[in-house]
Amino acid sequence: MAKDLLDTHGTLSPVPLITLCHTQGLTVRRTTFATPDVAIVVIPYHGLPTIFVDQAASAAHQRFLIAHALAHCVLHGQQIPDNYSLVESYDRFTHSHNFSDDRASCVECRTNRLARAILMPPSKMAQWLRSSLSVTSGGFLLAVSPSQFRQRLRDRLSAEDFH
Ligand SMILES: [Zn+2]
Ligand SMILES: [Zn+2]
Repeated sequence: MAKDLLDTHGTLSPVPLITLCHTQGLTVRRTTFATPDVAIVVIPYHGLPTIFVDQAASAAHQRFLIAHALAHCVLHGQQIPDNYSLVESYDRFTHSHNFSDDRASCVECRTNRLARAILMPPSKMAQWLRSSLSVTSGGFLLAVSPSQFRQRLRDRLSAEDFH
């Protein structure tokens, strides 16, 4: 029983996102962009592929943006070329589709799903499901917003998910 409590409450902790980025050869920096609608930029900086994230975003949103950039890099292959660059504005994250086929073939939607799977991996979701914690608590413990947590639960039920 004590072990169950530890499993469900003691270890449900945020994924070490910055470390994950480092293992993929990516550095992360927070910044203020000259153009206000820019959310993330990935460019070489001092010779290293670097994710720049809008520091005006909330902590949970910054984690999602960083995970999104990491997911792009993973989907584009392990090797990130020296000249790799990516600029994304906030409106990229708010589009939607009427049909699941469109979602499945949309690069941005696939990237968002992988970002959620990075932040909320199957082991941690299984741990949450075994617990009696609410969506809000689960999101809080994993340092994601409740809406991303809910979306992750929907992802798990769809055939499009990354398992
Ligand atoms: Zn994207
Ligand atoms: Zn899409």
